Amino acid sequence: MSPDPSFGRTGDHFRFGLHVSVAGGLDRIFGRGESLGANAVQIFSHSSRSWEFDLPGPEALVPYHRARTGSSVSSVYVHASYLINITSEDPAIAQKSRITLEKELRTADLLEADGLVLHPGSARGGDRAAAIGRASAIIRDVLDALPELRTPLLLENTAGAGSMLGSVPEEMAALFAAVDRPDRMGLCLDSCHLFAAGFDLSGDDGLDRVVGAFLAGAPSGRLSLWHLNDALFGLGSGRDRHAGLLEGHIGPEPLSAIVLKAKSTGVPLILETPKGEGETLDRLNLRRLHGLAGLPVPEPLRDAV
Ligand SMILES: [Zn+2]
Ligand SMILES: [Zn+2]
Repeated sequence: MSPDPSFGRTGDHFRFGLHVSVAGGLDRIFGRGESLGANAVQIFSHSSRSWEFDLPGPEALVPYHRARTGSSVSSVYVHASYLINITSEDPAIAQKSRITLEKELRTADLLEADGLVLHPGSARGGDRAAAIGRASAIIRDVLDALPELRTPLLLENTAGAGSMLGSVPEEMAALFAAVDRPDRMGLCLDSCHLFAAGFDLSGDDGLDRVVGAFLAGAPSGRLSLWHLNDALFGLGSGRDRHAGLLEGHIGPEPLSAIVLKAKSTGVPLILETPKGEGETLDRLNLRRLHGLAGLPVPEPLRDAV
């Protein structure tokens, strides 16, 4: 497998943003992104810690689509609930996960989202091939039950702790191949998860080598989305703990290489960095993102450090 230096994308449109809250209504996310100069946002469509939620009705969707029209925030991603575990060996959890994933995908499609991001899940103690079989069967069932939907399901690589699936290219490739619905799926790579899973992104070809290995098994050989996070713990820690940009262990060179590659290929970058009180840390991380890209800091982010 030879790395694809273009990452399968063309165009030089810098698409970037961050995870934002839906507090106060789904229509509020566009103003939140705009006030930070972002043109892409990611959300949880409901409380990520609850199984129970309703599909958004017209009272939410009408103001949402009105706010999106004319907004400089053009890309919206939805992150699926962390409760979903499509790999679980427990039939009750697998069934709940299937139902919830279907609702998540319907919600994301109603929001005309650019992707629904899902972690492949965790199999406690079972063998990996069986786990991949269970996870892929649920994904295929959900996609086939909703043939009219347009929002793709993006599988995100994981940090690889314990029995978590999807930390290595071979497992991601096996999942995509087993689902076998390449036009409905895509790959999301998280820089913190790559680093925690032991992938060294430094050196002249570090990034191209690692990303190329993941792209070899991705639908259409493309990358759909970056989650750009620094890593609180060291290379290969297996720990999914995000740090602010340039505050973790990944280092400025690999982070800059990711940002420059994303910029030149048009793959959106979403920050999932720690937030703290108010917008201070978001503004700081977005300023650092521009610094890593060698770009001037945009007007909405120019304030006291
Ligand atoms: Zn992520
Ligand atoms: Zn993470």
